[in-house]
Amino acid sequence: MTTSAGSPDAPRPLLNRRLAEFGTTIFAEMSALAVRTGSINLGQGFPDEDGPEEIREAAVRALRDGRGNQYPPGSGVPELRTAVVEHQQRRYGLAFDPDTEVLVTAGATEAIAASLLALLEPGDEVIALEPYYDSYAACIAMAGGRRVPVQLRPKDGTYHLDLDELRDAITPRTRLILLNTPHNPTGTVLTREELAEIARLAVERNLLVITDEVYEHLVYDVEHIPLATFPGMRERTVTISSSGKTFAFTGWKVGWVTASPELVAAVRSAKQFLTYVSAGPFQYAVAEALALPDAYFDGLRAELHAKRDLLSTGLAEAGFEVYRPSGTYFVTTDIRPLGGTADGFAFCRELPERCGVVAIPNAVFYDDRAAGAPFVRFAFCKRTEVLQEAVARLKGLATA
Ligand code: PMP
Ligand code: GLN
Repeated sequence: MTTSAGSPDAPRPLLNRRLAEFGTTIFAEMSALAVRTGSINLGQGFPDEDGPEEIREAAVRALRDGRGNQYPPGSGVPELRTAVVEHQQRRYGLAFDPDTEVLVTAGATEAIAASLLALLEPGDEVIALEPYYDSYAACIAMAGGRRVPVQLRPKDGTYHLDLDELRDAITPRTRLILLNTPHNPTGTVLTREELAEIARLAVERNLLVITDEVYEHLVYDVEHIPLATFPGMRERTVTISSSGKTFAFTGWKVGWVTASPELVAAVRSAKQFLTYVSAGPFQYAVAEALALPDAYFDGLRAELHAKRDLLSTGLAEAGFEVYRPSGTYFVTTDIRPLGGTADGFAFCRELPERCGVVAIPNAVFYDDRAAGAPFVRFAFCKRTEVLQEAVARLKGLATA
């Protein structure tokens, strides 16, 4: 629909031009397709079982006790800010002040949006690893920035960052690097050496870094190292995480930012006019979740590790080329060895009909659509029997 208000000759699109290139997010489209066709949904990344019962009960208790039912403080409830600080200290040896260096947000999504809106001027360039999580492109656009993708390239069963390409992408207009490790959708976890070089470049070129570490606890056989731990990075890094992935409550939308007081103040300036605050009672529950013993985090990791292996092996047996992830709960595959279409979009649109499974075409995470075309992502944050059934169905593709 268009409206010609103000200009009789030139009908004007309703949607702001910054958002014109972004249709409905692929996650909504594919989850709707799964519901419509009754398919197994390995598309949108959400667990099919809720997180710990005691944490759900903590949320109920907070609601009943009247904690968080009215606007919580703009930075988040003190219990959660303290829990975030203790988590960063215990896990990574990073010290933050709960009053000035932590900001609670409506999921990582709002943290990303508020950080970009706060830190970018129109025309600033933002380097983002491609394929990139879909909200990055939209939020860079809303902030008037220009995205500059640097591709992670598939080779020998995993995706790699070329540090020379990253270095070459930096220009005098580069304001910040938007990093994501563990990386959605490829499952790449940046190594200590890669992060050290990124840190060195950021310091040398005086860049800010926003680092999205929502999958920080979902790593298999490798270590997640926060960028903020590297020399010179503590003061120039906005670190983002979220309770959605770690505690399997994606609907609660409780995320957080840790950064220097100056960066937190800047991000809060934008955040206060987006939601101001959110999820009051859930903030108390997430504070308890962050304080769970190591056994919880180890158990989650072990469970997802087994599911990663189940789905990766199953997909390989079904004929896909599999990029076995080191982190996240997603497996990227190449559909070309199956011998049919090499277009991931077409493949994903047909998959429910062909075998009752839904997946995500990685091309949506690329500016360079051709580079992403043959790749398709499957989520493994589902019950074991669901994954087994999905694998059985996908194996039928070869014979169908
Ligand atoms: N960043 C990445 C890389 C993600 O995969 C997601 C998906 N949940 C988010 C951010 C958004 O997190 P939240 O649900 O906490 O907003
Ligand atoms: N992060 C989830 C994924 O990558 C989806 C989140 C969303 O639906 N926006 O699948």
